[in-house]
Amino acid sequence: MNAIDVIAKKRDRGELTRPEIDLFIHGYAQGEIPDYQAAAWAMAVYLNGMTRQETIDLTMSMATSGEMLDLHDVAPIVVDKHSTGGVGDKTTIAVAPWVAACGLPVGKMSGRGLGFSGGTLDKLEAIPGYETRLDIDRFKTQLAHVGVVVAGQTQQLAPADGKLYALRDVTATVPSLPLIASSVMSKKIAAGADAIVLDVKVGRGAFMKTLKEAEALAQIMVDIGQGVGRRVSAVISDMNQPLGLAVGNALETIEALETLRGNGPEDFFQHCIAVAEQMLLLGGRAPNRQAASVMLHEAMDDGRALSKALEWIAAQGGDVTKLSSKPYGLRSAPVVCALKAPRSGIIASIDAMQVGMVAVDLGAGRHRKGDPIDHAVGIVLHAKVGDRVQAGDLLLEIHAKTEARCARARERLLAAYSWAEQPVEQPPLVYKVIG
Ligand code: URA
Repeated sequence: MNAIDVIAKKRDRGELTRPEIDLFIHGYAQGEIPDYQAAAWAMAVYLNGMTRQETIDLTMSMATSGEMLDLHDVAPIVVDKHSTGGVGDKTTIAVAPWVAACGLPVGKMSGRGLGFSGGTLDKLEAIPGYETRLDIDRFKTQLAHVGVVVAGQTQQLAPADGKLYALRDVTATVPSLPLIASSVMSKKIAAGADAIVLDVKVGRGAFMKTLKEAEALAQIMVDIGQGVGRRVSAVISDMNQPLGLAVGNALETIEALETLRGNGPEDFFQHCIAVAEQMLLLGGRAPNRQAASVMLHEAMDDGRALSKALEWIAAQGGDVTKLSSKPYGLRSAPVVCALKAPRSGIIASIDAMQVGMVAVDLGAGRHRKGDPIDHAVGIVLHAKVGDRVQAGDLLLEIHAKTEARCARARERLLAAYSWAEQPVEQPPLVYKVIG
């Protein structure tokens, strides 16, 4: 077997064995298999899927493409969380320090933007100086001293996912259950956390469009994690409209920190509480959801969550002088224009995928591997699903590089809205918890 045989077998709907998957994945991680072959293989997987056993084997192959961290010399229990990707999803930036402020260490390996969905590492890099590439010693030392670390893949940790993730982003191979499950779980397993909370997004702005698909993804990820002795649960949460108000790297980072200051949008705040509660439960820090909720509210009200966030960002080299209060000192876009309501009525839906794609086109995401990100651009919603607006009210602001880009985005964003005359029920934030 060589790389071409492995691609051909998947193209022809064959079931790959673990040695075949290892040959391909480890070869790719080590630079022996080029991007064009990996892209062909990813498309074959996207089109033909994988069996449950192949998905498990792919996950473990990717996890073992680098080192596997053992964090027990740092803390008896470390918790991690991961989202399957959405629009306006800045949850990690708020919940990681928040949970750490409650006394549970959070060691997290995050990802970059993927298709229309943003990535935590890109958001954090909006903070001047923030370093995402930490070696293992630094990862562990920071976890021990600060209690929270959020880093990206390196040559040492899950390198196969680092490479494949960047390739999938630009080859239309993202929304595939086995590729998402293996990408998420390989990072989580390699990063060594004992307890893992998965935030599985469902809806227009998610890779899983139906509850059934989201449940299937959640279940296989929970099974993979539990199969290697980790405590895992999955929160299935709504991603039909953007989460919170801000979409775009710097804008989202600011919104997450404002949330820790008590000024966050209500839906984002409640979503963070739901995810953070699960982290405290799974990590054995709280006996039940109510106790977890009390801990979280106290840590926010007395300022511990925010100071932990600033301590963490500073430990990773971020310039916290730019984050002390509004207006934040992060780079801002030269042009800000408004989209006003074309009519009076109730907002029935805001297509999160469309909003995410506009954000990517404004420069918040990538079209080609390695494209630079414009951290300043994005969108800030001023009304959400269920809100009643009058014609001419502000629907959203577009932060762009030029007037022309603003005008283009405005037209596309208008098409993302649908309207109702009668009150519209708010979508639930969380559909169910698995595991
Ligand atoms: N998050 C990941 O880490 N990988 C995916 O494929 C999707 C979301």
